Amino acid sequence: MKEYPCVVVGGGPAGITAALYLLRAGIHMALVEKLSPGGQVLLTEQIDNYPGFPEGIRGYELIDLFTAHLKGFEYDKYRDELLEIKSGDGIHNLKLSDEWIRARTLIICSGATWKKLGIPGENRLNGRGVSYCALCDGNFFQDQEVACIGGGDTALEESLYLSKLVKKIFLIHRRDAFRGSKIYQDKVMADPKIEILYDTVATEFLGEKGLEGLKVKNIKTNEESSLEVQGAFVFIGLVPQSSFVPSDMDRDEQGFIRTDTEMQTSIPGIFAAGDIRSKLCRQVCTAVGDGATAAHRAQIYLEQI
Ligand SMILES: Cc1cc2nc3c(=O)[nH]c(=O)nc-3n(C[C@H](O)[C@H](O)[C@H](O)COP(=O)(O)OP(=O)(O)OC[C@H]3O[C@@H](n4cnc5c(N)ncnc54)[C@H](O)[C@@H]3O)c2cc1C
Repeated sequence: MKEYPCVVVGGGPAGITAALYLLRAGIHMALVEKLSPGGQVLLTEQIDNYPGFPEGIRGYELIDLFTAHLKGFEYDKYRDELLEIKSGDGIHNLKLSDEWIRARTLIICSGATWKKLGIPGENRLNGRGVSYCALCDGNFFQDQEVACIGGGDTALEESLYLSKLVKKIFLIHRRDAFRGSKIYQDKVMADPKIEILYDTVATEFLGEKGLEGLKVKNIKTNEESSLEVQGAFVFIGLVPQSSFVPSDMDRDEQGFIRTDTEMQTSIPGIFAAGDIRSKLCRQVCTAVGDGATAAHRAQIYLEQI
């Protein structure tokens, strides 16, 4: 069984940065990523709020620049999914799909994925009209009518992206005001293609083989109606990608991993960085900061043992 001083799980901004700091410190490491490196950034048309790019930058371009930092370093790459962690005697045994590897330290950077609404029709029509990613699926709805559900930054940002492609958007928000940034709110309100339905919740996706409509309910008047939409995009938040996390690791109510300010989890030798952590602000700039701190702390831990 192969053994590493450090294994990084997840190749998004946090994982790439952790790898960069470990490699520059001369630590032999492996990166386990179940898809292509890039994480959520690859699913985002434009990344804003990342210092150095005042006009924003396309997600894939930012990831190309991030991964360019790793060129020239030698490390093992596993295009595989971490399924289970068994820790004992200062060693963490990591189960991948066909093999086990061992790590003295582990940095979990597995990020987060979209939350589902949990209403009838959602699973049946997932990928058949119901989507969680405007960049991935927006093109399928060119010149059609769609619904976007949510009221945070992602819902507003993605509605603005979709409005360049589709004929009309119903933006459905369960409250009477948005949570998202003022700058996006202003743009959404000024967009003639976007009709905002406040105080409204989605109650059922309609259709058998493809989406034919969306049932909605006004929570103040209890009035129910159906929107004839061919696409529906759900942007209601994130859930941690943590199915492999040991049950005795300390996590918050939503399942995000609790760490101290040095990214140490409740299990010695295991660190967590990026969106998988329990924290206030989930952005690229905070993920890379976490990744750098986790790698540095893992290095100190290795020196101490
Ligand atoms: C639509 C959208 C728009 C956004 N816009 C912005 C923006 O404008 N500005 C900004 O700063 N931030 C933005 N964000 C947030 C930003 O993308 C995230 O904060 C950032 O990507 C978090 O990085 P991460 O490395 O922690 O996790 P992620 O990017 O989620 O990467 C985690 C990686 O881990 C891998 N992984 C997960 N589980 C396993 C496993 N078991 N085994 C192996 N690999 C695994 C995943 O495949 C993934 O590649 C946006 C996010 C979304 C979804």
